[in-house]
Amino acid sequence: MEELKRKIVAEGTAISGGIVKVDSFLNHQIDSKLMYNVAKEFAERFSDVEYDKIITIEASGIAPAVFLGLIMDKPVLFAKKAEPKTMSDVYMSEIYSFTKKITKSVIISREFLHKGDRILFIDDFLANGDAAVGINNIIHFAEAELVGMGFVIEKSFQPGAIKLREMGIRVESLARVSSTENGKFEFND
Ligand code: 5GP
Repeated sequence: MEELKRKIVAEGTAISGGIVKVDSFLNHQIDSKLMYNVAKEFAERFSDVEYDKIITIEASGIAPAVFLGLIMDKPVLFAKKAEPKTMSDVYMSEIYSFTKKITKSVIISREFLHKGDRILFIDDFLANGDAAVGINNIIHFAEAELVGMGFVIEKSFQPGAIKLREMGIRVESLARVSSTENGKFEFND
């Protein structure tokens, strides 16, 4: 998505450890027009599949997921990062956080995820794929069905996209960053 790639080049910074900082439009302040366009692009890319619900993870996946929910008239469910003790009757998975370097539990209430639900997963970044695999586990626990995963930014110099595709998951990434060497963004396509 050209508009998104231009924004990453103009406002993003590459920091050590392969982390991309895009706080001006995605991870802190939100460029709502751009996020709406991101959601329109997701709607287009997944226009060939049927889904009942969009799942994301708090916090930064919520903006693109909600705009997609608005466009497609679908509910948006966000997985919460929480202590396992604070909620009962939940599906839970452990996720290693690439940016924070810690393992956290993510949970989704059984009230909102049901057997047979067709799910589209949306998130801000795809790095090693741990968050996506954790959500995929929860979808399996619930006996729901994953129809695909959409990421605003994929860092294709990290193994997540390959891992997910090897698992048979359909992955659509709107900007695929192939390198951030010397602070310069390069893209796969
Ligand atoms: P993964 O589980 O694929 O390794 O990492 C995905 C999650 O980590 C995303 O939900 C995102 O919150 C965070 N993340 C991974 N890489 C980056 C990055 O380069 N920049 C930012 N801002 N977040 C990232």
